[in-house]
Parts: sequence; C-alpha cells; structure tokens
Amino acid sequence: MPDPGVYLVGAGPGDPGLMSVRALELIAAADVILYDRLIPSSALDGARPDAELLFVGKVGGGQSVPQDRTTELMIAKAKAGRTVVRLKGGDPFVFGRGGEEALALRAAGIAYEVVPGVTAGVAAAAYAGIPVTHRGLATAVAFVTGHTRADGPGTGDSGAAVVYDGVSGGPGVRAGDAEPGEAHPPAAHATADPEAGLDWPGLAAFPGTLVFYMGVSQLPEIAASLIAAGRPAEEPAAVVERGTLPDQRTITGALATIAETAKAAGVRAPAITIVGAVAGLANELAWLPDAPLAGRTVAVTRARASASGLARRLEALGARVIQAPAIRTVPLPGPAPDLGQYDLLCLTSPVGVDCLFARLCSGGLDARALAGARIAAIGKGTAQALAANGVLADVVPERAVAEGLVDALADLKPPVRRALIARASEGREVLPDALRARGTSVDVLALYETVADAPPAGVMQEASAADYVTFTSASTVRFFLDALAEAGVAGEATGTRHGPDADASADADEARGASGAAIPGLSPGTRIVSIGPITSTALREHGLKPDVEAAEHDIDGLVGALLDDAASRQTP
Ligand code: SAH
Repeated sequence: MPDPGVYLVGAGPGDPGLMSVRALELIAAADVILYDRLIPSSALDGARPDAELLFVGKVGGGQSVPQDRTTELMIAKAKAGRTVVRLKGGDPFVFGRGGEEALALRAAGIAYEVVPGVTAGVAAAAYAGIPVTHRGLATAVAFVTGHTRADGPGTGDSGAAVVYDGVSGGPGVRAGDAEPGEAHPPAAHATADPEAGLDWPGLAAFPGTLVFYMGVSQLPEIAASLIAAGRPAEEPAAVVERGTLPDQRTITGALATIAETAKAAGVRAPAITIVGAVAGLANELAWLPDAPLAGRTVAVTRARASASGLARRLEALGARVIQAPAIRTVPLPGPAPDLGQYDLLCLTSPVGVDCLFARLCSGGLDARALAGARIAAIGKGTAQALAANGVLADVVPERAVAEGLVDALADLKPPVRRALIARASEGREVLPDALRARGTSVDVLALYETVADAPPAGVMQEASAADYVTFTSASTVRFFLDALAEAGVAGEATGTRHGPDADASADADEARGASGAAIPGLSPGTRIVSIGPITSTALREHGLKPDVEAAEHDIDGLVGALLDDAASRQTP
C-alpha cells in the first residue's frame, strides 16, 4: 500500500465482476471508505473488518450527505493519516463529481490517485446487447447528462446526490424531486451557470450515438427536444434500467415513443437512454439469460465478510440483493493456541477457521500445528475454509448444527480425551456439554465475537420491504431486528406494524405472530427464509414465523429452499 492519501475509485455500474483489480486491492487496504449508493452490493465485502465504512449517498428519495461535507470528511480523514477510498458508482470522472473532489484534494495539498471504473453508459449498453459504436451505424458516441436547465446544470452523481435542504443557502431542491441515483447540484448555481441548458441543436446534429445519464423523469423532455431540434422521430432508442444488475431491464422503441413506453413499463432510476441506430441491435444481440430469481429482492442479513458467497449466488440467479448486515465479526486478540495437547479440534464456522489460522500465522505457525488432532467441522462452508488452508476435516456431520456433530462424534474411535472447540465468544453450550457428559475434557477458545453493526436506516427500509429476508443464524435474527428497531422500521410491542402497511398487515400478523410478541416491521408480503431449526427457533422467539426452512442447513440448502419457494409462487 502506498502512502496514505485519497483514492478516487470507480466501482463500476453494479455487477461486482466489473470492479477492477485495483479497486478491490484498495478496498481491501483502506482505513476509511466513503461510499455512494450505486456501488455493487458486495463491493465492500473485501474491506478490512476494522475499516470505517461511511455511507455518503442517498437512499430512495431521502436526504444525502451534502457534497461539501463529503469533501470535508474525506480531507479530514486523509489529514489524520488514514488511507481513504472514495468509492463511486461507474467511473469517478464520468458524471461522478470526481473532478470536483480531486480539485478540493489538490487545494488541500493531499495526494490522490484516480482509479477509473467501467461507466454505466458503456456497460449497461453492452449488457443490453447494444454496442455504443458499430461499423456503418455509429462512428462516435457522446455521453450526455440528462439533467436540463430546470433541474440545474446536472453532473449526476451515483448516489452522492446533493439534495440541498435550504440550510446551505440555495433555494433548495426538494428531496422528492430527485430520483434515486440522480444528483442535483446546488440550485443556487443553476441560473449563474451559462452551460446549464443542453445544446439541443448540437446534440441532434451529433453524428453518432447519444447516451443519456439521467433520472427517468427527464426522458419525455429529452426525446421531444431532440426531435424538435431535428433528430429523426423514428430513430431507434433504448432505455436500460439497472444495467448489469441481476434485474436489468431493457426497453426499446423509437425516439418518438420511447418515453411513453418506458413510463408504461414503470422504468425507474438508475437508467440510461441510448439514442441511435445501434439501439436497434438490442433485440438481435441480447445475451443475458432469463434468471429464476429475476424480479425478486432478497435481503441478506449475515455479516458482510461471510455474506458475499450467498449474495453472489443469489445475484447470479437473478435476484436483486439488499445487503443488510446487522452484525460484524471481530477477531479477538490472543496467542496461537497450543494444539498439541488436544486429540480433537472442532471448528464451527468459516470465520472461526480464518481467525484460527490468523492466530497461528502471527505465532509463526502453519497448518502443521493441526497435525496431531482429529479435526471436526460444522457445515460445508467450514470444511471448505479448512480445505482452503490445506486441511481436510475428518468429521463433517450431515446436519450442520452442534447436535449433528455431537452425534457424529459418538462413534469416533479412539474416543476423544481432550477437545478444543474454537468458535465465537457467544456460542451455544450444546457441544461442550455433550462432550463433557461423555467424559471428554473440553476447552473452549473464543476466537471472535459478533457485534451489532446496523446498516443505514434507508437500507433497513429496503430490506424490510424485500420479497425475501434470509437468516443464517440466531444472531442474525436478533441483530437484524434490533437494526430494524433502530431504523424506526419496527412495530410497537403490541404487534402492530409500522407505517402505511399497518392495516394491510393485520392479517399477516395474525398468521405470522407465533407468540403474540412484538412483530417487527417487515412488509406483509416478505417471506422469511431460515437456514435451519436453531435459526427458526430464534425467529419464533421474536414473534416471526419462518416461511421457508432449509432442509440442508447450509448456504446451498438455503438457496435451494428459496429457489423452490420462488418457483412455487407467482412472480411479483
Ligand atoms: N459515475 C457514474 C455515473 C453517475 S451519474 C458512471 O460512470 O456510470 C448516475 C447516473 O448514471 C444514473 O442516473 C444513471 O443514469 C446512470 N447509471 C448508473 N448506474 C447505472 C446502471 N447500473 N444502469 C443504468 N444506468 C446507470
């Protein structure tokens, strides 16, 4: 890692596979990450557990952190000697206000590096089967901001939208005017800036493809202005909504009708509009396969570090994933354990495996330290994490719960004399108790703890309205519900739900409320998916009924159960 400073990093348009190697490397090394809304959902998975992750964007129509404050924060963190990554959707210098931030950094004397990203105008088009240039059809391409004079000069920003609330002195743009993913620069500048309006005759005469970055609400005006300025009404056009994301949609038509067609289809931001002959290739060149979870939103509540596998799987199946990790695992400091004295070592989670090897490594040891003991792993993921460290588990119980391991160990020959259970600080006592009852001497080593880490309120709002919410452990249940309460999404202790859905949810409450206890503010249509019986018990204890429980208590099982459920229900 080079000297501390600021990295203005493009995270690409949404598909995590389009993030650059450099971006991933810097995210993994950063002390502080200031991020926008339109970054890939798993973009922060590789961040260090102790990194400070600061959301400076805007969710839905809500307020955002003003640009000045973001810049100040970035400068203050860098001056404090921290390595700062400023992570933006797409490319930081394409309607991303990266240039302004670079100027502010230069003025403050702070060194910076710019990491380009794959910009939405190219990527969303490509994922829709539209080459922005094509021999014989388009020899030039223009990226245009769709914001017109009425909206302000408009350098849209992927989520670091500046919604001035009047406090900053400008006339103010109401939060509701801004579509998600759209930016409103200081309205005060709108009249002062001579470049505020778009040069419609110039754009209409442009000899090539026009790509508009914008909120959908500007589309009628853009199309009408282009036609009025001489662009042919029958020219092909396409709108790509949520390009490169699992639920991408492409709407095609003629310039004259595209706004109406997009409106009828309910297109929402983020979306780009492509005007030009190349848009006519979309149907012929479309290549994205139909996905079984297309159109479904799934909230993932596990800690970020362990969520990426699940999130990716769901995204690959077409789901739109909302990462709402209400917990974070924090490695506990301590020496490398002396494993020589044990004839059984039990590991209960992939995180535990990582923490164990980190401790061994810092003690100058490696996998050979495990040579003397038999190794038991709860869950395929744990066994895989061991395998990644060159160790094959001797015992992996069929049922991925402590009880399963207790059964599997019963027949172990020779019987276990001394066991070490390496796990989280707050695990259940089933395994140690059962082994002790058989006369085994048991030590428990706490390698990490699980702490609450509530996502921003807006994310919790989105999660509470998802088609599915997945729970992979009892602690995710507890912390997720706490985070909902903190975000003000939870219902009252009487069992009513929050907000406008309260009435509609009365029936669902009745059906769902297993204990008559407080019903948290999940929307009535949200299906609750549990990885197994322990998690389901925790759900019931909190007054929630699991709609789907995985038969196999691992990620494969959970994804399979969710797929079956989705297949049996109508697309929303
Ligand atoms: N810096 C970004 C653009 C930020 S402006 C980039 O280089 O891509 C925000 C606008 O970008 C949105 O209003 C939308 O028009 C477009 N956009 C961003 N992500 C998008 C996506 N996944 N699909 C379609 N358009 C997207």
